[in-house]
Amino acid sequence: MAYRIGVDIGGTSVKLGVVDNEFNVIEKLRFPTGEEATSEGIINGIIDNCRMLCEKYDVEAIGIGSAGGVDSKRGMVVSAGNLPFVNEPVAIKVGEALNLPTLIENDGTCALIGERAAGVCKGADDTLIITIGTGIGGAMIVDGKIVRGHLKRAGELGHFIIDRNGIECECGLRGCFERYASATALIEVTEKAVQDNPNSILATVAKDGINGKTVFDANEMGCPVAKAILDEYGQILADGLNSLIHIFQPAVIALAGGIANQGESLIKLFEDKVYKHCKVATTSLNGNGGIIGAALLGTEYAR
Ligand SMILES: [Zn+2]
Repeated sequence: MAYRIGVDIGGTSVKLGVVDNEFNVIEKLRFPTGEEATSEGIINGIIDNCRMLCEKYDVEAIGIGSAGGVDSKRGMVVSAGNLPFVNEPVAIKVGEALNLPTLIENDGTCALIGERAAGVCKGADDTLIITIGTGIGGAMIVDGKIVRGHLKRAGELGHFIIDRNGIECECGLRGCFERYASATALIEVTEKAVQDNPNSILATVAKDGINGKTVFDANEMGCPVAKAILDEYGQILADGLNSLIHIFQPAVIALAGGIANQGESLIKLFEDKVYKHCKVATTSLNGNGGIIGAALLGTEYAR
């Protein structure tokens, strides 16, 4: 049986997985990238780990997902915020070292390809993924095709404007969706509410530190302050989702990233406020979507 390797290059670690014909990840490895990681170090790490996996399995191809702008035709990462890649031909170097066909795409796109092959977006020709974490990222498949944009950075689904007089955004605009809907934004609102309501259940829960989960935990415990935050957060998510549904008319939107770990508690916040003709659900491949999607580069699932 032939296998494919999927590589997922993230800001803190590189994950590699051997994927079989039924989209199962049968073995997984990871190594840290860290702040001091060089481009050469990351690429050599990928080569060494792939080589180990190739000795064990009959691997026919390698696919790589990387953060940032990826020129898939030239096999290179054009630029990637917190990774040390500038016009770096990552796929070409890995492919030549291992003598295997090697392709590369943006990591969000890979996650969407994975979810479309085997996860929550299964079979959808029009589908989006939105990653809700420190910022908001995303990827789109429209009419069965990956949308990349002429600078290879399409899919910035966090940077459409929902309030033109709103909060400044790192991208240079003001009032971007990301500034209200990211985990970072939710944590900021939570922190302020804790200060303003020191006797609330939320403030008690926050004593162990505040993250994107804190307000959900307090809400579960019946905290009215937490409920008010999440009611507003749900409305913001609904506004953003409805805007994207108007523009792309997707059959399915997959939600990924840290906040999506809240699963049904997250969906409940907006499900009666978004258009019913689009299914919105959290990813279903246990964090392996990026690996599975990368492994499928070059196949019918990734056009
Ligand atoms: Zn922005």
